[in-house]
Amino acid sequence: MKIILECRGAKISTLYLQTLVLLYLPGEKFGEDCENPALEFFIEQHEDTFFGKATLYIDGCVSSESLSGVVSAYPEQVDAAKCFAGELFIKLFGKKFGYVPPWGIMTGVDPAGYAAKLLKLGVAYDDVKSVFCDAHLVSDEKAELARSLGALCNSLASASSEKDYSIYAGIPFCPTRCRYCSFVSYATDSLKALLPEYLEKLSSEVSMLANTAKALKLKLKSVYIGGGTPSMPNAEQLRKFLFELRNCLDGDFEFDFEAGRPDTLTDEKLNILKEYGVGRICINTQTTNDEILRSVGRNHTYSDFLRSFYAARNVGFCINTDLIEGLPGESAESFCKSVDDISELSPENITVHAFSLKKSSEYTVSGKKLSPFDPDAFCMLEYSKEKLGSKGYTPYYMYRQKNTHGNFENVGYCKSDDSICKYNIYMMESVHSIFAAGAGASTKLVRNSLVCDKKIYNPKYPYEYLNGFDDIIKKEQEIIDFYNSK
Ligand code: SF4
Repeated sequence: MKIILECRGAKISTLYLQTLVLLYLPGEKFGEDCENPALEFFIEQHEDTFFGKATLYIDGCVSSESLSGVVSAYPEQVDAAKCFAGELFIKLFGKKFGYVPPWGIMTGVDPAGYAAKLLKLGVAYDDVKSVFCDAHLVSDEKAELARSLGALCNSLASASSEKDYSIYAGIPFCPTRCRYCSFVSYATDSLKALLPEYLEKLSSEVSMLANTAKALKLKLKSVYIGGGTPSMPNAEQLRKFLFELRNCLDGDFEFDFEAGRPDTLTDEKLNILKEYGVGRICINTQTTNDEILRSVGRNHTYSDFLRSFYAARNVGFCINTDLIEGLPGESAESFCKSVDDISELSPENITVHAFSLKKSSEYTVSGKKLSPFDPDAFCMLEYSKEKLGSKGYTPYYMYRQKNTHGNFENVGYCKSDDSICKYNIYMMESVHSIFAAGAGASTKLVRNSLVCDKKIYNPKYPYEYLNGFDDIIKKEQEIIDFYNSK
């Protein structure tokens, strides 16, 4: 698309318009040479008054809208020019495509964090909703979701001290590669051969981070072992890794393990996880439809999932299960059946993801496109919300991704407050520092709750991580300098 932007008095950027265009035309490319479609956008501010006009040229059709407004009508917490431009944009595109996205012009990943910040700034609970609905054109229901999760996040933040921290350790290896995945995760035999050396280095890095935290007198709140598929190591490797981990970590902390793929879990591994203090594990099936499981490249059936699920139940974990709404080939009926099946099993947490077409996934590379207006997406998420609500689940955390089915969000549901994965909120909302180890991990350093002050990135790929390990452990000094610079 070619975008011609003219601003007088008010300032918005072409980049901002591009992010809005992607809500309606996912995957659209932009440039001076892309004549069809084209968007002309004019915005003017004179004292307290805005005026704007937008024209869209697409496949020989021309649509145009204009709008006027007053600056003082927008809440002081928002960029009024951007919100006004967004309103004009939605007026034009909403009419042309017959659809207003549920999150309006809000394109960021973290609406709950935004709500939490507004509440922390002293914006009244009711006014937070109007910032979402009136300024960002978010639907009532989504605004309510963001506002309630923002309040939950603030209650965790206010119970948190600046001396709290959590640890993340990533194991980016998987048994096979899901066709929708864009994570860096090694799934071929030659790359999986790096796993033993990787685990050794990962333990050393966690030990370095834990010792740094002890020297700084920080208090460990949670540990999250994520992936990839952290249950990929064999039982002996897993025991050794967890033994070394426990040896360097003190105190009473939430311990989460994202097992992920049921095809990697055995009774022996589950018992080892329990023995070393893991409290919550994720066992994911994404769908209970075997045909879809096969077609998305997951190497297991629903029966495999059930075997792992019941085995984990017997050992006595708090369990989270992920589902994905909108997997290629899955009908609304099939997804709703997955929701029924999983809610019947009654895991403590269920996370419902909106299918996201990620840049480097096999689906994207092979040219798959996503319709942002699929009415099925709405029905499927509505169904999951209603069904899970009727089974006693409530949302406890949420995040958004780009290019998702129906522009929807991912929501973590819990059966009770004491089953929530606090790490998810600590990390997503920057409640306190996260010391992160492993390939692709990023350490987030937080001084005051809800604001990440500094990030330190590890190399993305496991082989780079192994080769550059001597440099990685030097981040210890960066962390110490951060805390001493207060
Ligand atoms: S299990 Fe997760 S990390 Fe592994 S390939 Fe599938 S989506 Fe990617």
